[in-house]
Amino acid sequence: MSASVLFDRVALIGLGLIGSSLGHALKRDGLAGHIAGTARSAATREKALEIGFIDSVHETPAEAVIDADLVVICAPVGANAAIAKAMAPGLKKGAIVTDVGSVKMAVIRDVGPCLPEGVHLVPGHPVAGTENSGPESGFPELYEGRYCIITPPPGADEDAVAAVVDMWKKVGSIVEIMDADHHDRVLAITSHLPHLIAYTIVGTANDLEEHLRRESAQNGELVRTSEVIKFSAGGFRDFTRIAASDPVMWRDVFLNNKEAVLEVLGLFSEDLSALQRAIRRGNGDVLEDWFERTRTIRRGIIDMKQAGIFSAVEPEDESTD
Ligand code: NAP
Repeated sequence: MSASVLFDRVALIGLGLIGSSLGHALKRDGLAGHIAGTARSAATREKALEIGFIDSVHETPAEAVIDADLVVICAPVGANAAIAKAMAPGLKKGAIVTDVGSVKMAVIRDVGPCLPEGVHLVPGHPVAGTENSGPESGFPELYEGRYCIITPPPGADEDAVAAVVDMWKKVGSIVEIMDADHHDRVLAITSHLPHLIAYTIVGTANDLEEHLRRESAQNGELVRTSEVIKFSAGGFRDFTRIAASDPVMWRDVFLNNKEAVLEVLGLFSEDLSALQRAIRRGNGDVLEDWFERTRTIRRGIIDMKQAGIFSAVEPEDESTD
């Protein structure tokens, strides 16, 4: 093993945004001796090999993990149980299995019981991403300066945890160790609920616009071009970016973090009702106080250098007037 190589052989199960970005970063920094990969479809497997962020491609998870020192499951969390069962026969003793899923209790529940004796499970979640998916969307800088949360189950092997932490640090992440249950509650409010709100508002706007267009057509009035697109700089645009995130990945996040999401959704609905009441009663002080408080939160995120978004095309005008 050369000085910088962390693992002789890494297997990536799932070769979309997260898997391909990790493959690119491991290759760029020479952190893996060999990167094997697999994905569900032949098209993705072929594309990944062609792009070159993996060294070999395999039809099944069981073949991809043969001889791997580190296995990283990078598929939607709903696929984890089937993947774990499928790859179990190929895993070698001492191998480390980690993942990148956006929920963590479900990973411990679904993957843990499938792993053979002597294989170490160290779940992880890089809190980094874009709204893009697939093998062509990855880039090596994705994890730089971003948090990666590692959630070792009770009794996890300390060396295995240290090896996974080391890998994420080497690809540029800031690593935090957290209890899986705590992770799921925190991410429910910071990531899962915002996605649910974005999916809702974009869908509602679209329904409303279609209704108005139908009305105009029925009344013989001029049917205008989409005002939702035309005036999207008024704040809506930011929601549409989030609402363009992968539907399967997010379906699985909500189904696998049900309790925590429903809990924060309840709190959110109560606060929304309070603001609704303030608007109805003309209570400007309530609104202003609330908006002042949230503005400080945004400033805090900027100060912690976690405000940037990765986008192939950055909007020229960032104002949300
Ligand atoms: P993605 O771009 O859609 O890629 C998913 C990959 O998983 C694809 O290569 C897909 O293969 C493969 N896959 C799906 N089912 C599979 C199965 N049964 N066996 C083998 N491979 C399978 O998704 P992603 O954005 O990389 O997300 C992957 C994971 O990262 C998810 O668990 C998500 O929660 C987590 N995550 C995502 C983000 C984000 O912003 N996107 C951020 C942090 C964590 P095909 O292409 O052949 O379908």
